[in-house]
Amino acid sequence: MSRRILIIYTGGTIGMIKDPESGILRPFDLDRILQQVPELSTFGYTLDAEAFAQPIDSSNMQPAIWLELAGIIEKKYAAYDGFVILHGSDTMAYTASALSFLLENLGKSVVLTGSQLPIGHVRTDAKENLITSIEIAAATKNDGSSRVPEVCLYFDYQLYRGNRVIKYNAEKFEAFHSPNHPPLAEAGIRIRYHDNYILPQPQQAFKVHHRLGSEVGSVKLFPGMSQAVFEAILQAPELSLLILEGYGAGNGPTEAWFLQGLARFIQTGKTVMAITQCHGGSVELGKYETSAKMLEIGVISGHDITFEASVTKAMFLLGQGLRGQQLENELQRPVRGELSKF
Ligand code: ASP
Repeated sequence: MSRRILIIYTGGTIGMIKDPESGILRPFDLDRILQQVPELSTFGYTLDAEAFAQPIDSSNMQPAIWLELAGIIEKKYAAYDGFVILHGSDTMAYTASALSFLLENLGKSVVLTGSQLPIGHVRTDAKENLITSIEIAAATKNDGSSRVPEVCLYFDYQLYRGNRVIKYNAEKFEAFHSPNHPPLAEAGIRIRYHDNYILPQPQQAFKVHHRLGSEVGSVKLFPGMSQAVFEAILQAPELSLLILEGYGAGNGPTEAWFLQGLARFIQTGKTVMAITQCHGGSVELGKYETSAKMLEIGVISGHDITFEASVTKAMFLLGQGLRGQQLENELQRPVRGELSKF
């Protein structure tokens, strides 16, 4: 029986056209995209497609849409062997991360892709991204199970774990990097899968989560940030979890107002998680004096998690109702392969 793949079109450059008057790019419809790639019929797969009624530029992405996508996959899970989500590249790393948490014990591929140039453009990267994503979503192991049972992101010949990617370039075809985890597969003459980096088939039943919390905030440190700005953020009424983007290995200033502000926040039962502004490497609280104090007052380490994965993981765990110690335990351990713990 031919492999069945569901393509879900959310919007993004891949399906955009230029408004003839203003020259601005806006999302178009799915039929147009598929018409542009007649090669797809040679796969012999059954390809079905579903498009958002209002395709969006991914800068308008919202957690409610992540829940909607998870719901579509839940509803169609038994009927399809794999899923390809067409998405704008701007927030694709956030969506890939969010879905990785919402889809627990995923046994099939969910591949997100998009493009830097619209599919109708003569030099487009969209065709290759779409064609290879479909091939990956349909790929099987010898036992017939999915080759990559994960939420992943395919772009410019590389397949990455979805919750490990960052958008790193606004104009290169190579728009994404996965700084702390190797690619799951690379496409050349053939697609080379790196099986030792791919998550194993889950032992338990597929489960979709339907709630995301919103009480997450972040502060990116910079030399000269004022006390008033910092305190205003900490005092925001709906903030349970602060992601602190520190320098290097998770460092920050040793000034009293900074540390006391954090300590007061933590004493009210709230959580502060340090991640690094660097694009590679890991937080190591306590390595320097400038993070040892943070460790003492109860700041926890996000290890080598990306900003995108830290925000969506926080929303996911808060949505599960976790708070305090339980929340902090889950934040510090890999839930879907989103961080490496040494
Ligand atoms: N602004 C577009 C979006 O994220 C860019 C893209 O598709 O790559 O929807």
